[in-house]
Amino acid sequence: MTKRRTKPQITRRDFLNGCAISLAAGTALSPMEALAQTNPGSPSLSPDYYPPTLQGLRGSHEGSFEFAHAMRDGQSWQSVDAGDGHYDLVVVGGGISGLAAAYFFRKQHGPQSRILILDNHDDFGGHAKRNEFWHEGRMYLVNGGTLNVEAPSQYSTVAAGLLWELGLDRDRYYEKNRDIFSFYRDMGLRGSMFFDRESFGADKLVVGYNDMPITEAAAQSPLSDKARQDLVRLYESRENYFPGLSAAETRQRLTHMSHEDYLLNVVKVHPDVVKLFHASFYGSLVVGPDAIPAIYYRDNGYPGFAGLNVEDLPPELLINEPGGQHGRENIDRARSGDPDMYFPDGNATITRLLVRSLIPDAVTGDDMEDIVTAAVDYSLLDRSNNHCRVRLNSTVVNVRHQGEDQVRTEYVNNGQSYSVTSDSVVLACWNTVIPYICPELPDSQKQALGYGSKSPLVYGGVLLRNWESFVDTGISRVSAPTSFYSSLGLQASVAMGDYQAARNPDEPIVMRFSAYFDAPGRGLNRREQHTVARNNMLTTSFDTFENNLRDQMTRVLSGGGFDDERDILGITVNRWPHGYSYSYNPLYDPTEWAYTSTDERPCVVGRQQHGRISIANSDAAASPHTDASINEAYRAVNEMLNM
Ligand SMILES: Cc1cc2nc3c(=O)[nH]c(=O)nc-3n(C[C@H](O)[C@H](O)[C@H](O)COP(=O)(O)OP(=O)(O)OC[C@H]3O[C@@H](n4cnc5c(N)ncnc54)[C@H](O)[C@@H]3O)c2cc1C
Repeated sequence: MTKRRTKPQITRRDFLNGCAISLAAGTALSPMEALAQTNPGSPSLSPDYYPPTLQGLRGSHEGSFEFAHAMRDGQSWQSVDAGDGHYDLVVVGGGISGLAAAYFFRKQHGPQSRILILDNHDDFGGHAKRNEFWHEGRMYLVNGGTLNVEAPSQYSTVAAGLLWELGLDRDRYYEKNRDIFSFYRDMGLRGSMFFDRESFGADKLVVGYNDMPITEAAAQSPLSDKARQDLVRLYESRENYFPGLSAAETRQRLTHMSHEDYLLNVVKVHPDVVKLFHASFYGSLVVGPDAIPAIYYRDNGYPGFAGLNVEDLPPELLINEPGGQHGRENIDRARSGDPDMYFPDGNATITRLLVRSLIPDAVTGDDMEDIVTAAVDYSLLDRSNNHCRVRLNSTVVNVRHQGEDQVRTEYVNNGQSYSVTSDSVVLACWNTVIPYICPELPDSQKQALGYGSKSPLVYGGVLLRNWESFVDTGISRVSAPTSFYSSLGLQASVAMGDYQAARNPDEPIVMRFSAYFDAPGRGLNRREQHTVARNNMLTTSFDTFENNLRDQMTRVLSGGGFDDERDILGITVNRWPHGYSYSYNPLYDPTEWAYTSTDERPCVVGRQQHGRISIANSDAAASPHTDASINEAYRAVNEMLNM
């Protein structure tokens, strides 16, 4: 762990609403408090401004979305000139895509290019958010959103090239972190499955659920005899449930049938067996088996399909598309190549490297190791003499051409609207926002941009005084498919530069947890479920998140001596109401949208250049991945060369 400046120790008595009061009050001013109104259009941030240490409800935090929602609901603002002068490029959105767009633009047009990046959050990085805990003078990091560089061998030349130019050396990374994903297993800790009493009649933790024969796992579960038999049959049967169908026809049938339907009405299992698969695709699709085609489960190796005669996916399918294809991937290809790369703050490492490249004074250090502990001076992000400026807390409410040669962008900062002009604009924000901020787009394009719906999910981190209760229970992580948090687990044991995650059970450690909001059982499609569930998530209070966490951890770990009052030092809950980009799903969308890269897809129709305005961000690829957000930034910036 890294020793830096001394921070006060957090105690339970100080703990309120996820925050150590002493920490919040002493060192990290709330972002709005820290805005010193020196220049109306670019309020400078005080040297104390440091959002990564804020706890409680983060992610899309309070203050980040209100102006956008007011704009959606018809509010307008009278803007005044921000007084910045004319820019070469304005970028809307300071996530990986927006920062990458600035990077590519500067590379093409030179270091003197004047670039302004506007983001509505109090921190840069978008989904790639960094959360910092401090305890007894040590820093403990965790990703607040975008987790890892997934399947790096499949990154495009552009995306892999950007990471390389930023200093991310894969060989060096793996040399140090070869064992991060096996560290806990090598200690004898295993995965586990938690059956909660609300869904299964009794609480039961089955340690090593996935490592034992299914008969043994079923015997240890609190399932009824009938459900146990059905579970074993699901895993062991070699029955062809579609005897009259050809391999191609079986694929078609499974493609247009939900997994829930398949299990209940074809395999005919007890409903409790379906519950065990409820969260299988939460981490990629944020809905359950009622809204996911059975073929996704089959192609990803889930049980129940062994006796079927099914055509396999062609190996070259979607080979040039970014990311793992979430249900549509060729599983052999997905497992080949280098393993995922995980940094202590997730892909916030990439955004910090981008900011260091764009505004070198603002971020210390010069390699991929020291970026993890680098100091970021937020007060330097938006200085008038920067060629590239990053302006936070600024919600863009209007983007329109002003004559043929320039674009005018209006944003709201602290309730006041300002305008800037530029030669061109990259919209690296969310597709769902673009029709509202850019009314001059053609209606067909607006409709296409509004097609997808981003998934609502929560990623959180809790700083624990130690992890002896995990060791005593014999686990490193828990899947809990029907609980509030469907996954809890110790952070990967990563080492970068001076930073080393805990390796001794008596040391503090960060545990990650995630909750996915869906709306099953109402016959809603995936997009409709996201809309309903997003509202549920936004009305869930921090207290509810905290109480559920304490309750669930106690029920899972009490056998190992866990005491929430004693062991929890801090909690950060990152709400992402507009999380993963929507990826197409053949249950509800045309099959070719899901399985080809046809130009008919709404993401392609929606991302068309409009005069001097180009569209980036991962929604433009309908792929919730970091490489997608980089590829789209590159495309958007290249389009401008044609102007
Ligand atoms: C919880 C979570 C975990 C993830 N894990 C992974 C992972 O492990 N690996 C992976 O490859 N991908 C992951 N992703 C996908 C992730 O979305 C992408 O990898 C990538 O971070 C997206 O970058 P982006 O710049 O396209 O979008 P974003 O990061 O969403 O950035 C867009 C920014 O634009 C801002 N914006 C929107 N409207 C406006 C406006 N009107 N004015 C100003 N700013 C605006 C947004 O607030 C946001 O800050 C994850 C996503 C989430 C939510």
